[in-house]
Amino acid sequence: MGISDRFGSHLNCIMKKTSPILKVAHWSGAAVLFAMMLCSCTSSSSDSEVKVMLLTGQSSMYHNWKLSSALMEKHLAAVNHFEVSTVVSPAQGEDMSGFLPEFDGYDVVVLDYEGDTWPAAIKSALEKFVGDGGGLVSVHATDNAFGDWPGFNEMIGVGGWGGRGDGFGPKIHWFEGGMKLLQTPGSATHPAKHDFEVVTRAPEHPVMKGLPASWLHAHDEIYSRLRGPAQNVTILATASADPEKIARGTGNNEPMLMDIRYGKGRVFHTTLGHCNKDDDLSVKALNCVGFIVTLQRGTEWAATGTVTQSIPSDFPGSDVVSVR
Ligand code: ZN
Repeated sequence: MGISDRFGSHLNCIMKKTSPILKVAHWSGAAVLFAMMLCSCTSSSSDSEVKVMLLTGQSSMYHNWKLSSALMEKHLAAVNHFEVSTVVSPAQGEDMSGFLPEFDGYDVVVLDYEGDTWPAAIKSALEKFVGDGGGLVSVHATDNAFGDWPGFNEMIGVGGWGGRGDGFGPKIHWFEGGMKLLQTPGSATHPAKHDFEVVTRAPEHPVMKGLPASWLHAHDEIYSRLRGPAQNVTILATASADPEKIARGTGNNEPMLMDIRYGKGRVFHTTLGHCNKDDDLSVKALNCVGFIVTLQRGTEWAATGTVTQSIPSDFPGSDVVSVR
């Protein structure tokens, strides 16, 4: 067990004794050292467990990583065979040079991060982890990060903002019969938050198998016109906003859930999951059962290539949202 594994295990141990919001807010270097001195716990994981690193710590003025990561940790920890460790980066503007999460020993890294660029050592370590077969999950605001990191853009397939303008790479949209790459003008946008229909496009994919053909997602942003290298992408689900009815709707079938392959690794990319700075733990987009279940299933698939979780009875249908 390396330093970062111990770091993760100790965080996980201490976190279980603290409130969801407080626990992700405190992990600066001194607090972590203090926690490691206090905590003598060791990992009780078995071989059948999926070891998940939730990596977070920064967001822009439009998002709230403390809230989104607290809810995602709760959702992931609710899966019996997941062992979740949350790792928090230095704060925005702080020195990153000593920050090097140790990915070895994990099955999947879930990224909820939109902030300062990372040192080259972290970038190359994550590229190696995924390239060698590790899983990666990219959630909502993470799309906006690292516009100038080619390996990251390959891993997430497409992203938005952060310098991703018209010449950045193709957009990917779903048309009758399949996915197309488009080089037409127009960069990332999204309509105001609203309930919208998510349509399954790959019903036999392990993440999607058993989910309804469409379901109503609660009060979220439809990330639109994302761009990138868009290589090795399979669209799993889409959403669309009619520009005649909804401002900043594109009318395109925009990818909401994606499968991307990077080397030997699997990436699950969900564009869902917005929360504002002033939202609270009841924020609908992150408590929508559709968001929760696809995050849980996508994380297992990225880690193992299969999904063993059943579909809960409160999964939303096509005409009414379901929020926990
Ligand atoms: Zn957002």
